[in-house]
Amino acid sequence: MDLFDKVKTYSRADDIINTPIFPFHRTIEENYGTYVKIEGNTVLMAGSSDYHGFAQDERVKEAAMKAVSKYGVGNNGSRLHNGTLDLHLELEENLATYLGKEAVLTYTTGYQTNQGAIVPLISRNDLIFSDKDNHNSIVQATLISRGMSMNKNQIIRYRHNDMDHLGRCLQQAPADNGKLIVSDGIFSMSGNIVDLPNMVQAAKNTGAKIMLDDAHGIGVLGRNGAGTASYFGLDDEVDIIVGTFSKGLGSIGGFIAGSKELIHYLKYTSSSYIFSSSLPPAQAAAAMTSLEILQKEPERIVKLQSNTQMLRKGLQSLGYSVPDGIIPIVPVILGDDMLVFKTWKALMEQGVFTNPAVSPAVPDGQQMIRIRLMSTHKEEHIEKILDAFSKIKSPVLI
Ligand code: PMP
Repeated sequence: MDLFDKVKTYSRADDIINTPIFPFHRTIEENYGTYVKIEGNTVLMAGSSDYHGFAQDERVKEAAMKAVSKYGVGNNGSRLHNGTLDLHLELEENLATYLGKEAVLTYTTGYQTNQGAIVPLISRNDLIFSDKDNHNSIVQATLISRGMSMNKNQIIRYRHNDMDHLGRCLQQAPADNGKLIVSDGIFSMSGNIVDLPNMVQAAKNTGAKIMLDDAHGIGVLGRNGAGTASYFGLDDEVDIIVGTFSKGLGSIGGFIAGSKELIHYLKYTSSSYIFSSSLPPAQAAAAMTSLEILQKEPERIVKLQSNTQMLRKGLQSLGYSVPDGIIPIVPVILGDDMLVFKTWKALMEQGVFTNPAVSPAVPDGQQMIRIRLMSTHKEEHIEKILDAFSKIKSPVLI
């Protein structure tokens, strides 16, 4: 069997790849934040994780350009060697203060940050308790840990956000083994918030450490957008906060926040930190400036929330299946791949860009149009999204 046989015979997307309803890899030619030009058409952007529009903010762009002038476009080396800039240290210090943690370590992408946190912490006898709906970067990190330690029983996947189930799994585990509970803070498809208060209860007296991947919580929830732990007032109960710069802070890159001891340990054991070139200057400067603006302009978070309420209520009153919630990730559940593709296309024709989420990215029955809002969206933008949904044929009839 030739290694590339699977490549030659791969046909999963072929049926629709050359049809107009194929929604992936569509090309953006111009980006104005709330509007983008895609393949010649200007459409409303309702599918970006740039929750505060910082990627297009003039102050953030200027900071990035200044950093390029001063340091160049790349660092071309690991943080251990030639890749540490004063910018990284300043950003890490600012983030630690913002999150109320002792120390922070930055990574070049959010994806590699989860690997950077989980793999070095897990040895042969340690156990990982991972939510079934966790982000792929967590799933992959846990698989690497299991592969490296060759302990096939290492990963316990508990039912999504089911803290009774987690509690039972923890109670059944041997008392002496090290335990890490890992969960998204905000789940990236559904927009669900982790049930942190009950997670903390479930973890009590088990010695388990709690790690939250708050990629979608930072900038969105809690005091000045400090995330899910802050939202619940449980900052001290979360041992490790992972975050990204690619969402609420408009840049790219990731970070781990925790105790000084933890960060010191990771600096010398975390492969995706040590063996990857460091966060580029423009991205570090952009994240730092976004963080400053976010703290000075807390009204952005209020606006994000009011946009979210307006859209969720509006879609519900149009008869769409949209859960209540306060997160600007708004899932419109359609429950069928083709229905999602057709709806996505119909929305594009109405001038609204959204994200289709089909299996296996979401479980069967949960296929959805995922809308993501920004604080830079105005009321008229939300009205445009609602108008588009009201004009397309009723989903069941498409
Ligand atoms: N964690 C979660 C929960 C995410 O949703 C994402 C991105 N979709 C990541 C990590 C990876 O972050 P990045 O895109 O910044 O690499």
